[in-house]
Amino acid sequence: MSETRVLGVDLGATNTKWVVLGIGSDPSSPSLVASGSIPTRGEEGHDVVIERLVAEVRRVTDEHGAADRWGLGTPGLFDPATGVVTIFTNLPGQWRGVPLRAALEDALDRPVTLINDARAFTLAEGRVGAGRGCAVVACLTLGTGIGGGIMIDGRLHTGATGIAGEIAHQTVLPDGPTCGCGNPGCAEAMARADVLAAMAGRASVAKVFRGVRAGEARCIAAVETAAEYLGIALANVFTVVGPERIVIGGGIATAGDLYLDPIRAATRRRATLLPPEAIRIVPAALGAVAGAVGAALAAYDDAR
Ligand SMILES: [Zn+2]
Repeated sequence: MSETRVLGVDLGATNTKWVVLGIGSDPSSPSLVASGSIPTRGEEGHDVVIERLVAEVRRVTDEHGAADRWGLGTPGLFDPATGVVTIFTNLPGQWRGVPLRAALEDALDRPVTLINDARAFTLAEGRVGAGRGCAVVACLTLGTGIGGGIMIDGRLHTGATGIAGEIAHQTVLPDGPTCGCGNPGCAEAMARADVLAAMAGRASVAKVFRGVRAGEARCIAAVETAAEYLGIALANVFTVVGPERIVIGGGIATAGDLYLDPIRAATRRRATLLPPEAIRIVPAALGAVAGAVGAALAAYDDAR
């Protein structure tokens, strides 16, 4: 069987990364043909960002093939039926209502698969990364926001609405602070980067974990608190969905076991129906290209 080349692009807040994958007879072992990155410059507005994206897709396609299908990971949500943006959380400007899919398909004259960036991360880590070989995997990206996704039998589970998998938008503290989604007390509202830093009285998450390493009580307490709320959300996922493992990535996860250990402990305390060894929480394996890899895999799935 000949190799199919697929382009995946991850529209990020700062940089837009891309990969070209070569996919042969075993879709769980794609090869990385090429990769690159351009600055997103979201402050220039959506028209300019889309134009630059189109130019880069043309350039990469001409250079590396991958002409049939491509996928775009987006930093937020869109209407799955129309491809119109509903919420882009981390990009400046007025993206709400932008007909993103139509704009890209008109400019490039070929179909595009849109996918939320956390779902792209899930597809990549679940199929070819830290969840490879598992039938059921859940993923969480810890950063400015907290993204999530669920994969069942090798396919993303997006549910009746097309947007299922938002693990961090479970209520973990009734009447807690209002989340970006409008609901009080979501796990995201209790543990996203700025909230964790503020709880510890530090300017950044990196400084919080530096404080933890130095044994500073306020930093340790803040990490324990955030881990407790995440543990509630993850225990629910283990109990309800039954993943073989939960993969954690994103900027905050670079703290490694310093953060994962308290999250594991909190999850085990809450998932009382499951044996402790069933709670497997592992770090992501693919690094910064996971979103782009997932966008490419989504496009490949779409074409099958
Ligand atoms: Zn929420």
